[in-house]
Amino acid sequence: MSNATTTRLVFPFGAGESAGDAAIANPKEILGGKGAGLREMTRLGIPVPPGFTITTDVCRHTMAHAGAFPDGLEAQVRDAMAAVEAAVGAKFGDRENPLLVSVRSGARVSMPGMMDTVLNLGLNDATVEALAAHSGNARFAWDSYRRFVQMYGDVVLGLKPESKNEHDPFEVLLDKKKEERGVHLDTDLTTDDLKSLVASFKAEIKRRRGHDFPDDPWEQLWGAVRAVFHSWENPRAVTYRQMYNIPGTWGTAVTVQAMVFGNLGDDCATGVAFTRDPSTGERRFYGEFLKNAQGEDVVAGIRTPQPLTKAAAAAAGTEGASLEEQMPSAYADLVSVYQRLEKHFRDMQDIEFTIQRNKLWMLQTRTGKRTARAMVRIGVEMVKEGLITSDEAVLRMEPQKLDELLHPMLDPKAPKRVIAKGLPASPGAAVGKVVFHADDAEAMKQKGEACILVRVETSPEDIHGMNAAEGILTARGGMTSHAAVVARGMGKCCVAGCSALQVNYDKQQLTVASPDGPITVKRGDVLSLDGAKGEVILGAVPLTAPALDQDYATLMEWVDKLRRLRVRTNADTPTDAKTARNYGAEGIGLCRTEHMFFAEDKILAVRQMILSDSPEERRAALAKIGPMQREDFAGIFREMNGLPVTIRLLDPPLHEFLPHEADQQAEVANALGVSPEIVRARVAAHHEANPMLGHRGCRLGVTHPAIYETQVRAIMEAAVQVKAAGGDVHPEIMIPLVGTSAELERLRVLVEETAKAVLAEAKVEIPFTVGTMIELPRACVVAGEIAKHADFFSFGTNDLTQTTLGLSRDDAARFLGEYVRLGIYPTDPFVALDQEGVGELIRMGVARGRTTRPKLKVGICGEHGGEPSSIGFCHREGFDYVSCSPFRVPIARLAAAQAALRSAAK
Ligand code: PEP
Ligand code: MG
Repeated sequence: MSNATTTRLVFPFGAGESAGDAAIANPKEILGGKGAGLREMTRLGIPVPPGFTITTDVCRHTMAHAGAFPDGLEAQVRDAMAAVEAAVGAKFGDRENPLLVSVRSGARVSMPGMMDTVLNLGLNDATVEALAAHSGNARFAWDSYRRFVQMYGDVVLGLKPESKNEHDPFEVLLDKKKEERGVHLDTDLTTDDLKSLVASFKAEIKRRRGHDFPDDPWEQLWGAVRAVFHSWENPRAVTYRQMYNIPGTWGTAVTVQAMVFGNLGDDCATGVAFTRDPSTGERRFYGEFLKNAQGEDVVAGIRTPQPLTKAAAAAAGTEGASLEEQMPSAYADLVSVYQRLEKHFRDMQDIEFTIQRNKLWMLQTRTGKRTARAMVRIGVEMVKEGLITSDEAVLRMEPQKLDELLHPMLDPKAPKRVIAKGLPASPGAAVGKVVFHADDAEAMKQKGEACILVRVETSPEDIHGMNAAEGILTARGGMTSHAAVVARGMGKCCVAGCSALQVNYDKQQLTVASPDGPITVKRGDVLSLDGAKGEVILGAVPLTAPALDQDYATLMEWVDKLRRLRVRTNADTPTDAKTARNYGAEGIGLCRTEHMFFAEDKILAVRQMILSDSPEERRAALAKIGPMQREDFAGIFREMNGLPVTIRLLDPPLHEFLPHEADQQAEVANALGVSPEIVRARVAAHHEANPMLGHRGCRLGVTHPAIYETQVRAIMEAAVQVKAAGGDVHPEIMIPLVGTSAELERLRVLVEETAKAVLAEAKVEIPFTVGTMIELPRACVVAGEIAKHADFFSFGTNDLTQTTLGLSRDDAARFLGEYVRLGIYPTDPFVALDQEGVGELIRMGVARGRTTRPKLKVGICGEHGGEPSSIGFCHREGFDYVSCSPFRVPIARLAAAQAALRSAAK
């Protein structure tokens, strides 16, 4: 960007202008979602107040140069401002006819409320008078000024609450003023009240910052632009990016736009709308507005907004209050605009508008956030409507979001005491202890306790608490309030605008009236929420599995026809196997046998086995373990009837199972017939400095063959038993942590001899295969040799990531977050496969393995097997299957279909 004078940093829009069309191939990346939407609306001839967008390149430059703007920016902004002035017929900073602007953030993907916005910029003591004279409405001018000083003070000058219990400094002054004047609503304050508020806001700024509020509009503008860029790095935006895997390197654009006013009087309004219901996906126009208000009033939940349509008003019992009834002509324009936008973008849009003196202006259109249910329904219905193809519908789905559909719901048959009803802002169920602050929600989560975050209204500062809570309950705000929008995006249950609640932060309690007198719920008491009905229920309601609807079934039919990858599951118990099968698993890709060892009835025998001192002692312990494992395996074979089941032999370091408490040691001593001191000494002898690189995996099988022999016997006996009962079994035996072909060669002999002996004893034929996990870089390198002894490879990418990156999978979380934030790793490599590094080893492993054995079956069973970008990699590299936890099976099916479509498109 050193040559910035020739680089286009600013793009105008509005007033028929759509300059630079040819120059931008990827408008969202450069102009952000908001800038791109405004540009597109301009091109469609939809009324948009004129303005300009400063690109995300400028944000990146500014971040990289300690806040310094690139050369040439100032000149380009001045030119663009001159064009806006010409279009509007007003002048920025003019004392007669001042142009006011908004300064808004807008990243490539929408991050609702996470970054900052300043409205009414350009006002000062002189221009406010001009605005009053020009508009003929002094109250409006001073209300706008009051809002501007407040927003600028917050966003640019950083006047925010400084502690958990402190309130917003401007709100305190505003409330004081209202109290002094004996009024409840902001709209009841007079022009003089607003004048005195502006003075006290400015005094507070001077007191806290030691300098005056800036009067010069250009100084205001640059301050606001800088602050908006900076807001990309604020803690809530960072948290949001981490939650949604958004790279920190993208940056935000800044849009500067001529103000239109929704607060000029009763023929003015502002609102937000969705072209379909973002909660259920139903095809109906849906939204809210406020008369005589500015944009932030609607989302901030300060006044409860009114519905747009007559039907919605009737349903809410507020007949006559809708925009359709109150401002029919602007409403008709809005309907025609929204229909055009949906048709043009061929997706549900989230729009913002302002009506100034009965004229409609569009401020934003973007693809609307929606719940998983709405995502599926909208996609499937748009295919039926002929708006998109089924391939497009599949590609549009966010795989991870399907998880929401599988979340449990409140048991409809359970008795429940509903104490209040709010708006059904985001469906789902939540049961948890009540907390009143985002930090407390996070602390609860860290303790492993479920909680419900209760707020009067939420603000973007609460994002971490909303993320930690099971559900969100607010007393104020509508269906488009911050709480509702963010909760839907997160797939969290939310009941909003529950006005019956009296929330008292000081006392940490809420109260609701009831026929038997007030009910008080204190911090730590349990509530349940039904987000689909808007119900707040006292106590814990039991949860049940959700019902998957017909739209989901239709989508998954398309998905299964498109994908080539098989999807298996990682399951260690019959219950998990059953769940996964219900979600469409086509086999088990990893059964971690050791998980069964922790069961209460087994752990003593396992400890006895580990702490044995002689082969005889060990055999005695194994004789107890064998039959128990056989029953476990039989249960799994029965559930997976007809499907392949890969069972991995013992893998983790043995010390994980050891008794560390004195009473546990005494118990083992008793079973072994030795003293507790001896047991203690043997436990100590098992200590390893680096257990993950220690005596684990196939090394256990090599040094203690009796353990693997017992396990193989249990697997094959279970197979014989289930087959004898008419079952169809397909055992696949897998050896973990192989690093040399000699290990596998040796263990394969052991497995085959043991299995064949069992089958010979039972006189039955059961085909079985023997394969290996590939979890070490060396295994990838010598995969050609290893494949001589393996029927299949299953990449254990948890260990392979750990060993390739030299990162402890148990400890790296301490600094990985910072690494991701700094862009050193684009994402957490334990979550999304490091395709460049680990992926290259996998490519080598697959290629070398298949050179030796062209039909080698290849799969993945690390956590990455359920992560969409990693699944895409597996598809491209010719894997046969991915294996993931049961609840991720639908996600993997969808991601596999998307990968197939994307590859075909290339
Ligand atoms: C792996 O390492 O990826 C794997 C699946 O094994 P585990 O997580 O049990 O070590
Ligand atoms: Mg492993």
